[in-house]
Amino acid sequence: MRLHLASGNAHKAEEFAALAAAAGLPLEVVSAQAVGGMPPVVEDTGTFAGNAAKKARALQARLPAGAWVLADDSGLCVDALAGAPGVESAYYAGPQGDSAANLRRLVQVMRDVPADQRGAHFACVLVLRDGTGGEHVFAGRCDGTLRAAPTGGAGFGYDPLFVPAGQEQTFAQLPAAVKGELSHRGRAWAQLADWWRARA
Ligand code: IMP
Repeated sequence: MRLHLASGNAHKAEEFAALAAAAGLPLEVVSAQAVGGMPPVVEDTGTFAGNAAKKARALQARLPAGAWVLADDSGLCVDALAGAPGVESAYYAGPQGDSAANLRRLVQVMRDVPADQRGAHFACVLVLRDGTGGEHVFAGRCDGTLRAAPTGGAGFGYDPLFVPAGQEQTFAQLPAAVKGELSHRGRAWAQLADWWRARA
């Protein structure tokens, strides 16, 4: 089964393709680029689930009848910032969605927050729309802490600041397979994989 990924983010497409392969399921995750690109969607619902559903519907409306679509919405929720940037993670430093600027802003905002108050979690909601428009929702979360300075060159977004619980390195230092297992996206995907196996 082919799942069209409702995202223009190439890193996410790679992560999902790797998760699908690792799960050993007959699921192929195809980037929206392969079907003409992701249509513009205003992510204004205020929730990860609402935004993901909006993206899934927008892409499915462009595809032939019967196509399956996978959308995700995700973000970083920082304890010391009452959950910000949360659903605004992609636009924390402004509407242009510059991830390097977002990271710099978070470093700056957190500069005086002591080590024992630097808790944060990544959240991810997946919305799978089946070929008849049925919606299936899966959530994942990864708790951790924020470093004072970015470290590591892999991954994307806030990865260089985030150390998942139980690890010494940031998501931008850990191997992609480790991130895949621990991450909010990996955990949401595991729920989807369980659902898929149960329906087969
Ligand atoms: P979305 O495309 O609306 O889900 O945007 C999510 C934003 O949250 C991204 O642009 C990143 O800033 C951040 N984010 C989500 N997942 C991750 C991750 O795995 N690592 C680092 N940043 C992430």
